Amino acid sequence: MPCIFCEIAAGRAPASIVYEDNMALAFMDINPINPGHVLVMPRRHFETLSDMDETTGMHVFQIAMRVEQALRNVEEIRCEGTNLLMTNGAVAGQTEFHAHLHILPRFQGDNVRFRFAQAARPERHVLDQLADAIELAMQ
Ligand code: 5GP
Ligand code: ZN
Repeated sequence: MPCIFCEIAAGRAPASIVYEDNMALAFMDINPINPGHVLVMPRRHFETLSDMDETTGMHVFQIAMRVEQALRNVEEIRCEGTNLLMTNGAVAGQTEFHAHLHILPRFQGDNVRFRFAQAARPERHVLDQLADAIELAMQ
């Protein structure tokens, strides 16, 4: 089955495009969580964030910042705040396996709820150990 987001990027599948250039596209989510829900994605197929090169990732985020700013100035969209969300992997809720960043307008009294079950607060030495391990993995 072809990737629907690749089809959109190629202009072979319909989409309501907000912005496009040679590296990225922003378009309306077909099934919005709130009105004005936009997706920003690289034109090239990368499955998740960690498959993407940094130049592409930075560009996607730059477009997301511009869209986020614009949403606040569109009269028809109630945008009093936003959430930026990226799902990477099925376990994180990814359903379209072409990396994309959600920009979600939020307003007082909307029906969006994020629930995070929090683990018990770890001791400092546990946090320090994890910080060191992640720092090492970043090198
Ligand atoms: P995910 O759960 O993978 O982060 O989100 C996928 C998003 O893509 C969903 O919010 C869904 O509504 C949206 N979506 C799925 N198929 C299409 C499509 O064909 N066109 C557009 N514009 N959005 C889509
Ligand atoms: Zn794709």
